[in-house]
Amino acid sequence: MSWLLQRIAVTLIAMVVGGVLGMLVAGTAASTSGALLGATIALGGMALRDTLRGYRLITWLRGSQEGQAPRDAGLWGELGYRIERSVRQLEQRAALEREQLTQFLSAIEASPNGVMLLDAGDQIEWCNSHAADHFGLDPQRDRRQRVTNLVRAPTFVSYLQAGRFDDAVQLADPRGQRSLSVLVRSYGDGLKLVLSHDITERERSEAMRRDFVANVSHEIRTPLTVLAGFIETMTNLTLTEPERKRVLVLMMQQADRMGTLVADLLTLAQLEGSPRPNADRWVPLAPLLAQAAIDAKLLSAGRHALTFASNVEAQIAGAPNELLSALTNLVNNAVRYTPSGGRIDVTWKLLADGAGEIAVVDTGLGIAREHLPRLTERFYRVDGSRSRDTGGTGLGLSIVKHVMQRHGGELAIRSEPGQGSTFRLVFPAARVRDVAAAPVEPTLAVGIVREEPALP
Ligand code: ADP
Repeated sequence: MSWLLQRIAVTLIAMVVGGVLGMLVAGTAASTSGALLGATIALGGMALRDTLRGYRLITWLRGSQEGQAPRDAGLWGELGYRIERSVRQLEQRAALEREQLTQFLSAIEASPNGVMLLDAGDQIEWCNSHAADHFGLDPQRDRRQRVTNLVRAPTFVSYLQAGRFDDAVQLADPRGQRSLSVLVRSYGDGLKLVLSHDITERERSEAMRRDFVANVSHEIRTPLTVLAGFIETMTNLTLTEPERKRVLVLMMQQADRMGTLVADLLTLAQLEGSPRPNADRWVPLAPLLAQAAIDAKLLSAGRHALTFASNVEAQIAGAPNELLSALTNLVNNAVRYTPSGGRIDVTWKLLADGAGEIAVVDTGLGIAREHLPRLTERFYRVDGSRSRDTGGTGLGLSIVKHVMQRHGGELAIRSEPGQGSTFRLVFPAARVRDVAAAPVEPTLAVGIVREEPALP
């Protein structure tokens, strides 16, 4: 308040000085009017000075207020200083809020879900890139556009117009490639928050789970029905000893079939639920090949010419039971899908890049091209009756694929109807070592090597 006293004092002094000067100039005859005129002129001078200072301050306020406010003394100086300080504080607060808004929008932008803000007239205020992608919008161009003019999916339009937002709705994206779950939340004065979520993957895995359960139920129900039929027969009919034995054999077969199915299901569940096999547990390949050879010979019962790579010194880093399971699945398939008199060769070779490959080559039925991409799906069979007749569960190749993925390798299939098939287990170099440290040649094969059939 220092300026107030100063200002009163200066005004009074100006009036007194102006009055005295007016009196002196007017002389004694008109001393009173001279004093009044002098004081008025002094006050007018002060008013003019105030007007000029006020003008300077207003000019500064009207401008961008970038520089300092006019630094006058007294009232105008303090006024200028305080206004400038408020302006600076407002600017700081606005900058802080801008930064907070930017951070908030970046956080929403980083959300894996689509977020769109609508005003009371359903016009787009803002949307993140996921929402733009989900609804086929351009975040800049489509701002202030009515959303229903751009997103015309009838489900969405009627959902928005109905105004009941308790549950989410599901709709396809504009390209019809993805399924979206869209939920609207009202806030503020008629404003809306539209949240969208890509549920394509979830729907796909739910469909897979449903299919899987249906398939398992079907696979188990079939032998169960047969078993129930036999039990009924044995209960109601008096069978001769040979008939009874025959029925028991058939019942045993069905029970075995269920047992194999359950074993394969457990193997799959274990493969999916356990950590990847250690990369430092080295498994010699020779015993695995020997075991697969024993199984194949038993299954083939002399109907095929079987050759297995011998003197294999290589080792593979991984889980021995899984590796054996993958190998026996392929070899048994080769036996089961190769008619009598056919040939099955199992080879091992180190590839030029250090990777290793077990190939199971048969001269069997072969597989048409269109089935190849689906062979590793659970329960996918090219020939259902042959698969079941030979004790197949439809899960073998699915198990092989899982094992290979867990070992960082891959299952490669080449086949042509009537020409036989080649199933290759390719292991990455990091999981292969040749104990004999034999020179690595591009097509080094140990044991019996034969040309693969020329399949496309
Ligand atoms: P399955 O228990 O039915 O043999 P797999 O998953 O092992 O199930 O194989 C899937 C399907 O692939 C089989 O049903 C069969 O039609 C086909 N398949 C697998 N291996 C061979 C092969 N070596 N030759 C011909 N077809 C094969």
